[in-house]
Amino acid sequence: MNQDEVKELFKKNNALLNGHFKLSSGLHSDAYFQSALILQYPCHAEKLARALAAKLVENDIKVDVVVSPAMGGIIIGHEMGRALGTRAVFTERVDGAVSLRRGFSVEKGERVLVVEDVITTGLSTREVIDALTKLGAEISAVVSLVDRSAGKVDFGVPRFALLSLEVKSYKEEECPMCKAGGVAVKPGSRK
Ligand code: ZN
Repeated sequence: MNQDEVKELFKKNNALLNGHFKLSSGLHSDAYFQSALILQYPCHAEKLARALAAKLVENDIKVDVVVSPAMGGIIIGHEMGRALGTRAVFTERVDGAVSLRRGFSVEKGERVLVVEDVITTGLSTREVIDALTKLGAEISAVVSLVDRSAGKVDFGVPRFALLSLEVKSYKEEECPMCKAGGVAVKPGSRK
């Protein structure tokens, strides 16, 4: 799938929203990617994961286990595990810290693929990388459906996205939409 096809899929499923949003990072933006609206269709999730897996194969990147952060990364992570023939586990926050729960583990030296749905600042992805590195895992690569930083966020490992584009986000105090008197909404929450 090329970038245009992926963008079209987001638009067709109303998964690319325009408005005034407060992102999970706390930043404000006029665009929001609601990947769940695409991933609710397993056939789309499978296709997107296969497209990401193809990039890894092309670049000869080896993966033993897929790790994705809950909730956003779980479905695409699961499909990546299917596409790559590996297991797929997810991290959760326990008292604010990124952790593996439910008996999930990552062995020393295991090659981990970190899978996200959307990367904006990369801060939460970095927390996942740090938590796994502490367990002795080796991070093979980071992949996401959408990279809102257009590749600017650097994790020190190879990184691939199906849709890579620069979407402006603002600190609340610098947000032009707030300055114009608007109120940011948390996407997905009921108004
Ligand atoms: Zn704002």
